Amino acid sequence: MVGILEDKDRIFTNLYGLQDWRLEAAKRRGAWNATPDMIALGGPWIIDQIKNSGLRGRGGAGFGTGLKWSFMPKVVNPDRPHYLVVNADESEPGTCKDREIMRHDPHLLIEGCLIASFAMQAHVCYVYIRGEYVREREVLEEAVKEAYAAKLIGKNNVNGWDFDLYVHHGAGAYICGEETALLESLEGKKGQPRLKPPFPAGAGVYGCPTTVNNVESIAVVGTILRRGAEWFAGFGRPNNTGTKLMCVSGHVERPCNIEEAMSIPLKQLLEEHCGGVRGGWGNLKAVIPGGSSVRMIPAHEAETALMDFDSLSSLKSGLGTAAVIVMDQSTDLVRAIARISYFYKHESCGQCTPCREGTGWMWRVMERMASGEADPKEIDTLLDVASQVEGHTICALGDAAAWPIQGLFRHFRPEIEARIASYRAGRPHVQGARLEAAE
Ligand code: SF4
Repeated sequence: MVGILEDKDRIFTNLYGLQDWRLEAAKRRGAWNATPDMIALGGPWIIDQIKNSGLRGRGGAGFGTGLKWSFMPKVVNPDRPHYLVVNADESEPGTCKDREIMRHDPHLLIEGCLIASFAMQAHVCYVYIRGEYVREREVLEEAVKEAYAAKLIGKNNVNGWDFDLYVHHGAGAYICGEETALLESLEGKKGQPRLKPPFPAGAGVYGCPTTVNNVESIAVVGTILRRGAEWFAGFGRPNNTGTKLMCVSGHVERPCNIEEAMSIPLKQLLEEHCGGVRGGWGNLKAVIPGGSSVRMIPAHEAETALMDFDSLSSLKSGLGTAAVIVMDQSTDLVRAIARISYFYKHESCGQCTPCREGTGWMWRVMERMASGEADPKEIDTLLDVASQVEGHTICALGDAAAWPIQGLFRHFRPEIEARIASYRAGRPHVQGARLEAAE
């Protein structure tokens, strides 16, 4: 057997699009089976099941999904209807899991939207899909039409909960993946994060109680209820349960998306599903385990790391979206992190000073670190500025800009110091292209 998860326990049985995504084929795979029975058991039962399953949000933050749902008001004020908003703005570099759900198994998502909306007494759900995901939107919209035509959703549907679903196409801004920026954008405004509180459960879209969930978090709901919370909780470790889509890119023999049991050892994931690190495990230099915003871990830590929230946070990194970026010995890590710094500088919405000024400043210093032109004293200044940006901004983009830099210096500071020393000795570093300042 490869990996830990057996085929019979996969939720996403059409992850690679080898079968038809349309309604009839999706039903044969299990979607929409027994949905009216779940609805008949009531919203509190559904929320309890999701809590018992241990499902934590799959969009990066890892907050308990059932707990989040329980924050919605218990009684609906007719003037303030409830909403579910699905965050399909998948933009974190390295992450490409939600797109596979939307283009290959969209009915699992639509069914999950209905069930989750019912549990939170919402009659309307918006799926906010990333601007670049054109094909995915087309498939999802077609699947929504099928669900309406089969009376699975809409007024007087067979599931017994009036429910409308709208697919909203974003314009391609990373920051709209932040839940309150997403809500602003959905309302037709500039996509800028809101100050919190109030949180969306109190005042979300149109000022009404709203829950924002990631695509994967919602798409697994139907299967969890069908197979039981205990079944889902049986994978992984306490506090890190269930199955998880993982996306592996970079220097492995076979980059892939794979659904695996939570807490699978990172080394096992890479060796059994991806053909191993290019050139063998000994050629590994570092891994970014959860999308570009988490801190990297060096090879010796990757050796024993588990792919779950607690293991990776104990290494001062994070599971994030489980987007594993593998870098072998040929990688210019300083140049790679300088490139990531440019990304966050570019995507900052500019609303708060530490992020607006700090991301650009950190990127410019990182460029000098990559070439070796920096002054050695600038290393401590850079780390000081990163710590001033971290935790002092309206949204987590400030943290996302600071953490990759902190991870680099935590593990590879001597390498950068050597690069600066060699530049000063008249031997400039030549690997990697400089990203020219365009602005
Ligand atoms: Fe905008 Fe950055 Fe502030 Fe977030 S942290 S609100 S992206 S300026």
